[in-house]
Amino acid sequence: MTSTVAADVVPAALGRWQTRTTRPRPDVDAAAAERAAADLLTALGLDLNDETLVETPRRMAGALIEMTSSPDFDLTTFPNDEGYDELVLVQDLPVQSLCEHHMLPFVGYAHIGYLPGERILGLSKFARLVALHAHRPQTQERLTKRIADHLQVHLQARGVGVVIEAEHTCMSLRGVRATGARTTTSALFGRLRDDPRSRAEFLSLTKGPR
Ligand code: ZN
Repeated sequence: MTSTVAADVVPAALGRWQTRTTRPRPDVDAAAAERAAADLLTALGLDLNDETLVETPRRMAGALIEMTSSPDFDLTTFPNDEGYDELVLVQDLPVQSLCEHHMLPFVGYAHIGYLPGERILGLSKFARLVALHAHRPQTQERLTKRIADHLQVHLQARGVGVVIEAEHTCMSLRGVRATGARTTTSALFGRLRDDPRSRAEFLSLTKGPR
């Protein structure tokens, strides 16, 4: 399977093994968002003249803008001088995203593993990578795939695996109100997909009680 980085992520080469990872800024109009938030709250029958709600449209717009944008960072890799060739697994990276159907949060954890090739990735970059892709309205399935695609393209590892477990508030707070239900998604590439032993090791380590 060939993989490509999601079209709206722009990697700019800074050096051979460093790429600035950025998402094009959406055209955010904070004032229009605040007016629209006020309209929505008024349509819901709320009295925005009440002093407890006066600042709510501004805060509501600001929260949504924050949840749909993420800072750039440099995806820096290092030479794998020791020839480390076992699984590297980073677990419980926080995921905070928005479902694109209801604009309600889904929150949980991502577990990312890879089998290094010639380069290894700084560990803090995993959390930044998750945040970069998470802060937008989407589905959990697409988020999982995007993170795995990004790593696969830029790290050139022998295998990449991403597992996300999340609770969707659009399912727990409304609709069926299935509080506590968790959704698990995974995306695997290379040896973590094709080699049964590596695949089983990765999936067993990313399961288990939490
Ligand atoms: Zn939803």
